[in-house]
Amino acid sequence: MTVAVLALQGAFAEHEEMLKKLGVEHFQIRQKRDLERPFDALILPGGESTVIGKLLRDEGMFEEIRTRIQDGLPVFGTCAGMILLAEKVEGGVPCLGTMQIQVKRNAYGRQLGSFYTEEVFGEMKEPVPMTFIRAPYVEKVWGNAQALAEVNGHIVAVRQGNQLVTAFHPELNQDVRIHEYFLKLVASVGNIPSNTLSKAG
Ligand code: GLN
Repeated sequence: MTVAVLALQGAFAEHEEMLKKLGVEHFQIRQKRDLERPFDALILPGGESTVIGKLLRDEGMFEEIRTRIQDGLPVFGTCAGMILLAEKVEGGVPCLGTMQIQVKRNAYGRQLGSFYTEEVFGEMKEPVPMTFIRAPYVEKVWGNAQALAEVNGHIVAVRQGNQLVTAFHPELNQDVRIHEYFLKLVASVGNIPSNTLSKAG
């Protein structure tokens, strides 16, 4: 399995470290021609969603990435990556818009902008570390999107078929379980379009 990491801006190096730790082949996507290399999954890192969105368009990668995700390419978006995938964005403009979620940008305000907590995630038995940095949260999910985790009553992780998003940064902690969860998702969905998958994904 090979995972491509969008490396236009933000915390991409930390995702690469995680993949290295897990022994997964990976490379960076910086320009359109990088998309010609074969890969099985894509990570959209945290950073500044408006900047990453603009660079995606400037580099001419926007349409191809969106189409590939719609066609079933497994994708994992963290924080800004989650905002890029959301169909609706409060406090911002939707970008790829492939996920049936509404997110609120910088949802925790300035003072609580960055914090750490541990919460349950999906079926995992032990809570996972969650580092939030000027994070969004998910206000609404619909269609095939399913909430996987909540913090203080707000959804912070969602899966919709081939797409996984977290409002927090699992790549900034030593715990590899969220990345392992994504790799399992990649292995299980292959390249099946999310709109043809059942609600259970
Ligand atoms: N606040 C950033 C945005 O709106 C996201 C922060 C992050 O990715 N850590 O894009």
